[in-house]
Amino acid sequence: MRKSPRIVMFHRFSAEPKQHCVSSAEFEKQIIYLNKRFNILPLSQLRQSKEQGKPLPNNAIVLTVDDGYRDFYEVAYPVLKKHGVPATLYVTTGFVNEELWLWPDQITWLLNNVSEVNKTIALGEQTSKNIEINTIDDSSRQQIWSQVIAYLLSVDDKTKHTWIAYFAEQLGRPLPKTTPDEYAACTWQQLVEMQQNGIEIGGHTHTHPSLGQVSNEQLHTELHTCMRFLDEKLGKVDRDFCFPNGQPNDYNKKVKQVTQEVGFKSSVTAFYDSKGTQDLFEMRRHTASEDWFQFCKSFNGVEAFMAEKTGAHNKVEGELC
Ligand SMILES: [Zn+2]
Repeated sequence: MRKSPRIVMFHRFSAEPKQHCVSSAEFEKQIIYLNKRFNILPLSQLRQSKEQGKPLPNNAIVLTVDDGYRDFYEVAYPVLKKHGVPATLYVTTGFVNEELWLWPDQITWLLNNVSEVNKTIALGEQTSKNIEINTIDDSSRQQIWSQVIAYLLSVDDKTKHTWIAYFAEQLGRPLPKTTPDEYAACTWQQLVEMQQNGIEIGGHTHTHPSLGQVSNEQLHTELHTCMRFLDEKLGKVDRDFCFPNGQPNDYNKKVKQVTQEVGFKSSVTAFYDSKGTQDLFEMRRHTASEDWFQFCKSFNGVEAFMAEKTGAHNKVEGELC
């Protein structure tokens, strides 16, 4: 698989080992391993090689990170800088502006901060879809989270936010107005510093909705606003884009078209299949992980090989992008 470039996506990092995060020590071990065996390229180099038909070195890989959480600046960036490794960070501009915190984190926060509920909560209009929530603890939390997130990904953006407010009310726990520290974003100042030191900053909408579920008007607003803030705060350079949540239902032809019209130079998904990086505005990505086995499958091309041979489609359950 050395001739097929691979893009890998990361999300959260932590100083010490923590669920759903890549820890600092593990990340450094991964970067040292990758630096010895692969050519870690900036995404712009992959993009330009595709635009201009230029060959890429063998064993090319690209590192990408979604959302713009502060832990990227605090944990991952120092490691990348120390080893001289490039990466692309896709930021949700409203999140960086501190206008909002990401909605899946609001669900996580609620489920981490409430224990006794004993209520039936309506998931939409059909009573058959109600969920019975009694005690929220380590054994039930993940299942409730998955049910709620699956429902919220299936409805339009406005319904989603109304429902989250209803959910918080039912749980008797108002959501903090400002983002709790563990879910905080990078500041613009941090993004400026990183951009000067080998990190490419791409767009990831303004409020992080599934672009497959928004009106035409919101689609334009999300992309234009995102681009405008990136231009204003970080200067006008070629930028790439990442579809929030990034599954096949989270974008479509129209979304791809508007992404280009707004001026983004490429876009990426959050799943992998045999199409790989063929379409510049729909490039597939592999999932990074703290887990060494998943890490190797993604980077060494096992997943890409399987997709090529069997058409397999990867999606890591219980992960949001
Ligand atoms: Zn995201």
